[in-house]
Amino acid sequence: MLVTLQNTTKKLCVIGDPVLHSRSPLLQNAMISEFGLDYIYLCQHVPRGESAQWLACAKYSGYAGFNATMPHKEALMPLMDELDDLARLCGAVNTVCIREGRTIGYNTDGGGFLRALDDLGVIPAGKQVMLLGSGGAAKAVAAALVGAGAAITVCNRTIAKAEALGAMAPHRMTPADFRSETLRAVAARSQLLINCTSLGMEGAAAQFKDLSFLEALPQGAAVCDAIYAPAETLLLRRARELGHPTMNGMGMLLHQAILALEHFTGQCLDRERAKAAAMATLERV
Ligand code: NAP
Repeated sequence: MLVTLQNTTKKLCVIGDPVLHSRSPLLQNAMISEFGLDYIYLCQHVPRGESAQWLACAKYSGYAGFNATMPHKEALMPLMDELDDLARLCGAVNTVCIREGRTIGYNTDGGGFLRALDDLGVIPAGKQVMLLGSGGAAKAVAAALVGAGAAITVCNRTIAKAEALGAMAPHRMTPADFRSETLRAVAARSQLLINCTSLGMEGAAAQFKDLSFLEALPQGAAVCDAIYAPAETLLLRRARELGHPTMNGMGMLLHQAILALEHFTGQCLDRERAKAAAMATLERV
């Protein structure tokens, strides 16, 4: 990967605390190089509670924009001059463009998920969706799915969080608990299942104790996991064995990055070329 620096090169970065684990610099610089864009993408540690100081610094030092990860996504919300609909709906900003001193906040996670779903050939409009989880990923995916015309049942271990998420669009979202019998009943009337909990994630996270809800899911219903490490979670393996189309979180990760770069540059990118460049870089590390 070669990013050529010139006096005109515009700066982008990811901020977070911690941030060194972020794959955004790898993905973004691979795409910048692929399309010969006059940008460079860096990694910037910004301590919790210092989003406003960073924003002043980014404007002063001429950044064209940045991505935000934990713990800045919510803190940036009141600091934006403009917000896109998805950021407003899910209450979190992961992409900030700085244009002539004005800040525009976007959330590309949900849009990235919709593009990944499109790659799988699934159209969410009119579908009954079973969404597991009510954290940051679930909020972004739910906001995008509601916008795309789906009806969602949100199942979460902490029911109060599912209720709070459901309040985002009460006509389109129904909260539910996470008991096995509830999950089976919801699955039986769903045409698409999405896991946005951390269950099954590589590392210390817990696993699903009971996957019997997959057996209740109608034939042909797609099963998606926001998790991309491991590439195939237990949930996805069991769903594949039962004959369901499956998708892991890699498409969402790649597409949210492509969407962010499109916002930064104001250009539509060739998605297949962008995905291939980003994937090739990830495979090399
Ligand atoms: P988060 O805000 O911490 O939310 C975690 C969710 O998992 C909550 O709904 C939580 O339920 C649930 N959960 C955790 N442990 C559980 C357990 N033992 N039993 C049942 N539910 C449990 O995390 P997040 O940022 O939304 O991330 C969720 C997953 O999505 C992670 O695996 C992350 O890697 C993935 N992700 C992927 C992408 C992508 O681009 N592919 C982007 C973002 C996130 P409670 O509310 O009850 O605590």
